[in-house]
Amino acid sequence: MDETLAIHGGPPVRKRPFPDWPVFGEREETYVLEALRSGKWGGSGQVKRAGFQAKLPEWERRFAQLQGAKYGVSVVNGTMAITVALQAAGVKPGDEVIIPPYTFIASASAALLFGAVPVFADVKAETMQLDPEQVKRAITPRTRAVLTVHLGGGMGDMTRLKQVADSHGLALIEDAAQAIGARWDGIGAGAWGDAGTFSFQSSKNLTAGEGGIVLTSDPELMERAWSVANVGRVLGGEWYQHERIGWNLRMTEFQAAILLAQLDRLEEQLARRHRNAMLLDRLLGEVEGVRFVHRDPRNRHGWHLYLFRLADRVTKRVSKAEWVRMVQAEGIPVSPGYFALNKHPAVMRSIRDWTGEHRAYPCPAAERLAEREAVWLGQQVLLDTEAGMEEVARAITKVNRYVLAARS
Ligand SMILES: *Cc1c(COP(=O)(O)O)cnc(C)c1O
Repeated sequence: MDETLAIHGGPPVRKRPFPDWPVFGEREETYVLEALRSGKWGGSGQVKRAGFQAKLPEWERRFAQLQGAKYGVSVVNGTMAITVALQAAGVKPGDEVIIPPYTFIASASAALLFGAVPVFADVKAETMQLDPEQVKRAITPRTRAVLTVHLGGGMGDMTRLKQVADSHGLALIEDAAQAIGARWDGIGAGAWGDAGTFSFQSSKNLTAGEGGIVLTSDPELMERAWSVANVGRVLGGEWYQHERIGWNLRMTEFQAAILLAQLDRLEEQLARRHRNAMLLDRLLGEVEGVRFVHRDPRNRHGWHLYLFRLADRVTKRVSKAEWVRMVQAEGIPVSPGYFALNKHPAVMRSIRDWTGEHRAYPCPAAERLAEREAVWLGQQVLLDTEAGMEEVARAITKVNRYVLAARS
């Protein structure tokens, strides 16, 4: 076989693209047409008419049930879902919210949008998830909430994190945008905290193009979340009765229609992603220079991302960016992942603007993951065949052999 790297003109390992996303069909068409023909497209969630079954209430009920929460409040996207959840949990401008730095920027901007201040606590290198012991160290008299992020669809030690939050009287919010279908110790992502939030943006494992939801089992928190997302109205109150300042963040019937159809495909897709991820664990386990994320048996993974780490002996020889370019040239859409938010210029500038202070939050594990070690494959790759997983492993083997031999 020609082992010349594709980036140097050799034949790529993988020649076909990975599966398209989203997957859709007749079910989506039927539900969207039903929503269209109803003539009730808006998202008050209170539409009732003879013979008309609104999609939003059914969608909210079914999604909350899937994750094991009592209530769902649909919103426009995952970022706003976090903002709404933080406000509904009582976080006010100037309050501090502890978050992990290795995540999508929205986890921080959701707080900064209304003047709440993110405080970064480091992740555990082995799991890439928020470390409950680092959370304890980050608590100050201004801390109101912990916002954990279920990175990639995995979950950190929620049992311990909940203990830490409870014992300090802090609200616990889950950014579960990547953890649809995930559980920790039998309890669903989004049902551990006071509230959990999800995103249905195009890349997510359930999607309507855009969308989000706040889940909670606390009826008062649900009412506050509903109010924040419904221009400060009161659930069951008068149309022009506004008891707080809120926004119009409502989802539409069209999105709920698509999400209901997508929901019917979820378990089968999750099972396929799981099988392929287990296969990748086995295949990559034999590849020199790859390090795994620790898997806890209490975690039923949501498989939004297949995360892994590059070993020192690889990153001593090539930068992560170079490694990613080499693997991508082989036809494998590997991603270099996130920038550490505790070093992100826009995030740190916004924190300085709100606080008037120049703050620094050293997080060596997250910084190392971001700069050198962490890479991932998206959920679409996991929807491919077993042969596809073998190609992923072969491409990484090929690149690592070259890297480890050529420059040692
Ligand atoms: C996608 C995502 C969000 C934001 O969701 P949007 O719907 O794009 O606003 C927030 N947090 C994490 C971890 C995400 O992956």
